[in-house]
Amino acid sequence: MSTHEIELSKENQGREQTVSGRVEPVVSLPIKAIWTLELNTVCPNCGEHLDLLDDGDFWEENRIQAGEHETEQSKNIDAWCKECEHEFKVDLAY
Ligand SMILES: [Zn+2]
Repeated sequence: MSTHEIELSKENQGREQTVSGRVEPVVSLPIKAIWTLELNTVCPNCGEHLDLLDDGDFWEENRIQAGEHETEQSKNIDAWCKECEHEFKVDLAY
């Protein structure tokens, strides 16, 4: 058997092991679906795109529900630009 033939048979063995292995599910049950919330706005001063939820104090400072809009509490919300430090007000929309 030449060196070349030995190399080939090794390659084939490796391939067989991969194919014969039982496929296990990647994720265990129950499968979850994860909510992701963003509250996106644009700084009127510098045009930076901001996610107001990046501010960890957002929920404490503003007593609003996720998705809340067109209510008294969801209007005139304080926003702050992390890029130019401009402060402005926003009305939440959904
Ligand atoms: Zn800005």
